[in-house]
Amino acid sequence: MDNCIFCKISQKEIPSHTVYEDEVVYAFLDISQVTPGHTLVIPKKHVMDIFAFDDSLAAEVFARIPKIARAIEAAFPEIEGLNIVNNNKELAYQSVFHSHIHLIPRYSKEDDFSMHFGNHTEEYTAEELAAIASNIRKQVR
Ligand code: 5GP
Ligand code: ZN
Repeated sequence: MDNCIFCKISQKEIPSHTVYEDEVVYAFLDISQVTPGHTLVIPKKHVMDIFAFDDSLAAEVFARIPKIARAIEAAFPEIEGLNIVNNNKELAYQSVFHSHIHLIPRYSKEDDFSMHFGNHTEEYTAEELAAIASNIRKQVR
């Protein structure tokens, strides 16, 4: 797609540091290196975000994540964990609108990555949770 920085990266019009490549995905180092080895995996086909994947592209792209994760783990013996993050739309921190999956190696609680999961367990009754789940379930296609 014209004017998409990640299309240009996967087509080698803009340089990047390749981690893995095949006919479906391109994986390369994120320029920000939140932690050492921070890698982005993108479909070569331009899709904007998770909502735009069809089943077969999703299967093909996500099938490649574990082997790239294992390669990162093997390359850095000091890795203690790995966060996999996929931001969708601006509110959810997406800044490049060609879908990408962040693989962020974790070295310690003091490395430069963090995430906050609020806990609202006490605010919902079982009936309210059932209604939310039912609402979503009816929309699954
Ligand atoms: P988002 O905020 O959309 O989830 O993530 C976009 C990521 O793309 C950011 O972590 C940012 O550092 C990375 N990024 C943006 N421009 C470039 C670039 O030109 N080259 C590389 N390698 N990474 C980029
Ligand atoms: Zn693109």
